[in-house]
Amino acid sequence: MLVVMKRDATKEEIDAVVQRIKEFGITPVPLPGAERTAIGTFGTTSRDAAEAVESLPGVAEVVPVSRPFKLASREVIPSDTTVRIGSVSVGAGHPLAVIAGPCAVESREVTLEAARGVRSAGGSALRGGAYKPRTSPYSFRGMGEEGLEVLAEARDATGLPIVTEVLAPSDVDAVARVADCLQVGARNMQNYSLLDAIGDQPKPVLLKRGMSATVEELLLSAEYVLARGNRNVILCERGIRTFERYTRNTFDVNAIPMLKRLTHLPVIADPSHGTGKWYLVTPVALAAVAAGADGLLIEVHPTPDHALSDGFQSLTIDNFRALMAAVPHVARAIGRTERVAAS
Ligand code: PEP
Ligand code: MN
Repeated sequence: MLVVMKRDATKEEIDAVVQRIKEFGITPVPLPGAERTAIGTFGTTSRDAAEAVESLPGVAEVVPVSRPFKLASREVIPSDTTVRIGSVSVGAGHPLAVIAGPCAVESREVTLEAARGVRSAGGSALRGGAYKPRTSPYSFRGMGEEGLEVLAEARDATGLPIVTEVLAPSDVDAVARVADCLQVGARNMQNYSLLDAIGDQPKPVLLKRGMSATVEELLLSAEYVLARGNRNVILCERGIRTFERYTRNTFDVNAIPMLKRLTHLPVIADPSHGTGKWYLVTPVALAAVAAGADGLLIEVHPTPDHALSDGFQSLTIDNFRALMAAVPHVARAIGRTERVAAS
């Protein structure tokens, strides 16, 4: 349930509601708003608890929350959340955030070249995996800690904030020391100990949809992070597995407006993994912008045919520049600011 307090409710009245909720064995989560405070609850709420709280002084109303996710739900938090990656604001009402870079941090040279290319084309942030989740254990699995140092150098050289994946709870601290935003990949969307560990630290999170996950499962995974106290979650549609084989995944454009309706969290789109083919990335990126995405995640490599991972879906720097030139037209057509966020 969501307990909405009156605008003039005092701190004592709010504390009394929190206390009463606890007496029913339910965990209250105060959600201070600009105009009034609301108090959300986790777990099942009995009718007795709702009735007991409704009659307390200072309570305006008790609203049942019908969705299984709570802190991620627009029912609980109606206004759009802005998440900051370094100096870049991501979310509704902000310029589109375009996070771009190689799939993996493969070497210092390639990463710096990619970073300079992303910067010069107007990208908002640099991506690149130092720890790579690979389907085969024999594939290149990233440079690890050395890769994090390379990313830090690329940020110093370009000013672009860094988004990079963390695979294990034990790596969260090391990755968070360097990254401006931690990525949780599709394969780890339901790794609940990783979500807990990420929820316990303050850096923002880019949470990718699992390859066979429903929209509701994605939101429940976000809920894990939110429930631990980290409210800086960006969701990412990256395609789901279907019977179609001409594309690597089927990019689910439905998910974007559906998510925007269900949640206040920013939603971005990854047409690189969503299609698996470089020549499909730009049209699907533009479709995602038209559908209301708050940003894009794009794989860019100076020489895609030499990439150690995901070369076939990576844009050259020139192709990325062309994508960046096309995005403002679509943004303008749907009434969104045509600027792309600069760091
Ligand atoms: C990636 O972003 O490089 C990646 C591994 O993506 P996903 O987790 O969506 O497969
Ligand atoms: Mn990749």
